[in-house]
Amino acid sequence: MQFVHTERHRAHDPKVETYLGLPIPANEVPARADAIVAALAADGGFELTPPTDHGTAPILAVHDAGLLRFLEAAWPEVERQRLSREFLVADTYPTRSMFAGMSDALVAARPEPVAIGGRVGWWGLDSSNPLVAGSYDAARGAVDVALTAADLVLGGETVTYGLCRPPGHHAAAAMAGGYCFFNNAAIAAHAIAESTGERVAILDVDVHHGNGTQQIFWRRSDVLYASLHADPRRLYPFFLGHADEVGEGPGAGTNLNLPQPLRADDATYLADLDRALEWIDASAGSIVVVSLGFDTYERDPIGDLALTTAGYHEMGRRVGALGRRLVILQEGGYFVPDLGANCVAWLRGAAGQPPA
Ligand SMILES: [Zn+2]
Repeated sequence: MQFVHTERHRAHDPKVETYLGLPIPANEVPARADAIVAALAADGGFELTPPTDHGTAPILAVHDAGLLRFLEAAWPEVERQRLSREFLVADTYPTRSMFAGMSDALVAARPEPVAIGGRVGWWGLDSSNPLVAGSYDAARGAVDVALTAADLVLGGETVTYGLCRPPGHHAAAAMAGGYCFFNNAAIAAHAIAESTGERVAILDVDVHHGNGTQQIFWRRSDVLYASLHADPRRLYPFFLGHADEVGEGPGAGTNLNLPQPLRADDATYLADLDRALEWIDASAGSIVVVSLGFDTYERDPIGDLALTTAGYHEMGRRVGALGRRLVILQEGGYFVPDLGANCVAWLRGAAGQPPA
């Protein structure tokens, strides 16, 4: 199997993030990708392909131009103002109650702030998403990884793996958040839909709901989104991911959320995976994009499900058995010691190979 990866991810190297206002060691760190690369190399069945530069057009096909402008300009602005800090996060966000009672038109016409402290809230979801000097460059690299993995499948490969870092599925059209800056999977799915003219399905198996992916395709009929995730009443992103979110307008019925109970095990999870796969099988085209997270793992420090390495092999096997071509893109997963083994297990399953 070809896997796409670039060292550009190293530029995004936050040392701390904040959790409920307190600094904690960052979870989304370069060591995550290092662990996966080492495990793929040790397995021997994976061939590294570097990404090609796709420019900004595929990003702007999915994201607001203002988000791209902000992410590119944010750190230079921090330096220009000589703000003494290792990372940038917002204090103030434009939450829904601030605008309650005002018309949609008036709210939509509120201008972007000029101060960096206002802009980082304007374009952000949460304060757990540290932006550092190299975040923009790394995020651009992750998009190129996703698009190159898609290119390989469009060129005839059956299954490819894109080791994206930073991840993407919390990034909405006009919003970064949850360790994500650009939505790698959404950008790839849009490009595949444009190229093939077929419906594309995104299967999201990260422990967190991919609120950004859902938002981007909410009113579109050409990209399906199915997600298994911890019930958002318990876990980030808290405000979306419920079962009654099914899409609207042309996208009505193209969104499937399957919230999982606390400490869901392999059997519980795989039963719902089968529901998602049947749903995809009934209406998707020949290519499926997978948002692959390992924060569903029983030892993950920020997830609350209980999947195992053997469960990941079985999950990959069932997704591979769909008989679709697969563009598999890395999202979360934060128990670094077992990340490589879990990834190899999943990918070997998807390729129809036995566990290592
Ligand atoms: Zn996650």
